[in-house]
Amino acid sequence: MAKVGLRPEFYGRYPHMFSGGQRQRIAIARALMLNPRIVVADEPVSALDVSIQAQVLNLLMDLQDEFDLAYVFISHDLGVVRHIASDVMVMYLGRPVEYGPVEQIFEDPRHPYTQALLGSRPRLRAIGEPPESRPRLSGELPSPLNPPSGCAFHKRCPLVVPTCSEIRPEPILVGNRVVACPVALRERAA
Ligand code: SF4
Repeated sequence: MAKVGLRPEFYGRYPHMFSGGQRQRIAIARALMLNPRIVVADEPVSALDVSIQAQVLNLLMDLQDEFDLAYVFISHDLGVVRHIASDVMVMYLGRPVEYGPVEQIFEDPRHPYTQALLGSRPRLRAIGEPPESRPRLSGELPSPLNPPSGCAFHKRCPLVVPTCSEIRPEPILVGNRVVACPVALRERAA
């Protein structure tokens, strides 16, 4: 309890007597009791308000140092991902589309889906500063139960070519990045 910031007098409390942030601390303590090397955290801060999110993220980072943990941290919150991750895997309809070091993914996304995802973030701009030109997605997200043929992103992709609906792109290693889009890589090389 001390390691996750809970006071000893909380020991006899019932679950409904804890706040959302405290319950997350309990969940983290339960995971640590098994002495894991890897912890899978699925949206661990999404239900918390921003100030509590920061506390729980800082706790996770402190525990990572103390117990030499690796996290598989699953999140839709790009700000949280950038804060906590060292390496990022971007998924679309359950498949990885891009993987690499966090700064490279955020500063120089290669896959069109990653570009659109990052382009959808609300950003503050200085007065007179032009907006970033990143592709925006149209169309609905297809059902993961019945994904489109070939590249699952082809119905929404701004770079789509005819073969995209037939051939599922394999992940391609480029330096220390992996990108599942030969078209984007060809365009970039050209
Ligand atoms: S393979 Fe085709 S549809 Fe898929 S991301 Fe690349 S260009 Fe777009």
